Amino acid sequence: PDLFAPERRNSIGFDLHHTPTLDAVDKAREAFQEHQWNATRLLATDAAPLATAPVTNPSTPEDNPGTVAPASATDAEVAMASATPWTAPAAERATILNAAADLYEAHHGELFALLAREAGKSLPDCVAELREAVDFLRYYAANIPDAEPAGTFTCISPWNFPLAIFSGQIAAALAVGNAVLAKPAEQTPLIAHRAVQLLHEAGVPRDVLQLLPGGGELGARLTSDPRISGVAFTGSTATALKIRAAMAHNLRPGAPLIAETGGLNAMIVDSTALPEQAVQSIIESAFQSAGQRCSALRCLYLQEDIADDVLTMLMGAMDALQVGDPWHISTDCGPVIDEIAHRGIADHIAVARADGHVLKEMATPEQGTFIAPTLIKVSGIGDLEREIFGPVLHVARFKAQDLDRVIDDINATGYGLTFGLHTRIDDRVQHVTDAIHAGNIYVNRNQIGAIVGSQPFGGEGLSGTGPKAGGPNYMSRFCAPDRQSTND
Ligand code: NAD
Repeated sequence: PDLFAPERRNSIGFDLHHTPTLDAVDKAREAFQEHQWNATRLLATDAAPLATAPVTNPSTPEDNPGTVAPASATDAEVAMASATPWTAPAAERATILNAAADLYEAHHGELFALLAREAGKSLPDCVAELREAVDFLRYYAANIPDAEPAGTFTCISPWNFPLAIFSGQIAAALAVGNAVLAKPAEQTPLIAHRAVQLLHEAGVPRDVLQLLPGGGELGARLTSDPRISGVAFTGSTATALKIRAAMAHNLRPGAPLIAETGGLNAMIVDSTALPEQAVQSIIESAFQSAGQRCSALRCLYLQEDIADDVLTMLMGAMDALQVGDPWHISTDCGPVIDEIAHRGIADHIAVARADGHVLKEMATPEQGTFIAPTLIKVSGIGDLEREIFGPVLHVARFKAQDLDRVIDDINATGYGLTFGLHTRIDDRVQHVTDAIHAGNIYVNRNQIGAIVGSQPFGGEGLSGTGPKAGGPNYMSRFCAPDRQSTND
């Protein structure tokens, strides 16, 4: 393939180490530091205003970035009845999606302010998220398959990538020519609303792309109606299973569910690894975005011979992490998304503390839903009963002769999203990566931040159905089934 072809070019984003760039980005976002946004449903036709509720800033309880008016059951009905596939030719759809990508970039100041104030994202996270969103739009625009659209797709997204995942699902569905009903996570309606406004401004017709802010009940309604042809879902494994059951009862047989779900992600560091490289990778994988990435490292396996040295370095590196308001450029670790998430993570740490298993804790700001990076000792990944979606890293030790048992334990979780390996033995790279069941495997680097187009992202087992997002096969599931190869 031509590595420099336009469809392979990724957004260059903003280099925050370049002071003039950082100053310009800071200024662009400052204009929105006190801005108020209002999220409401965006349907094919205008509808009467609805009752609103305030949206909160997870790091600063006294800051309300705006209000949301959740869509009603009637709105869902209206949206499903008026959803219209996008009949414009593929080249025109691509031009409009590319125009939307340009608009996203042009509005970076506003989007960064929204991501910080509504989702608690640090500035480096904001830059990475905008790049990914733009990459999805351009990548799908450049790779539209020659096929019919499935019909109407419901796209349901999580709060942890409220711009990138939200836009990626929609872009793939739209590129193929589907009508889209987009239901963002209830925690992040403002970003979704602004994104859909920009997509409309770029030229996506309003009856083709409709926005319905709301929670799980609305999501259930939009995934269990026979007028829906398929569902793209990213979120927890538990919700994916509910959606699958609802679809099986109500939708036509074979209606696609593209589910990208949770993980219990491990990393193995053996005694030949470069400790500095491993520690940097561990810090980024476990604590960047306050651990609120589906790809984040949850269970670190250190080979016994080097475990003490690596842990000493790791704890030193943790001391240098700044936990606080994500608006500040020096912040490494912002808040977790809301009080419910905070309680769940804090309870998990409290149990470990009572058992004497906490290896390291740090201070947190008094206000806001902060959890500081925490290390917890475990005997193995089997001790983790569930995905802890925050900056909590579990650490186990293993002996060289037990490597295959460790691999078996990791596979036995049933999840298979990301996996990291640090070693300087080539044969071991081959052996471990052959044996591990995970969608995305990273060697001698961190295990987060897959790049659209070059590192298609998605898991296996309990972590997702495939095909991988940002890869060549993703859009095939948004197409109508090939009539010759099915009994439709
Ligand atoms: P969640 O499952 O609670 O919610 C996700 C979305 O589903 C939200 O929009 C929610 O309103 C909706 N929803 C809830 N119940 C529903 C129902 N019965 N029917 C239809 N929709 C319903 O997940 P979350 O807490 O928002 O996100 C965090 C989870 O997402 C973690 O498990 C994380 O690992 C996962 N995730 C996975 C990926 C990936 O690519 N594999 C990426 C990001 C996040």
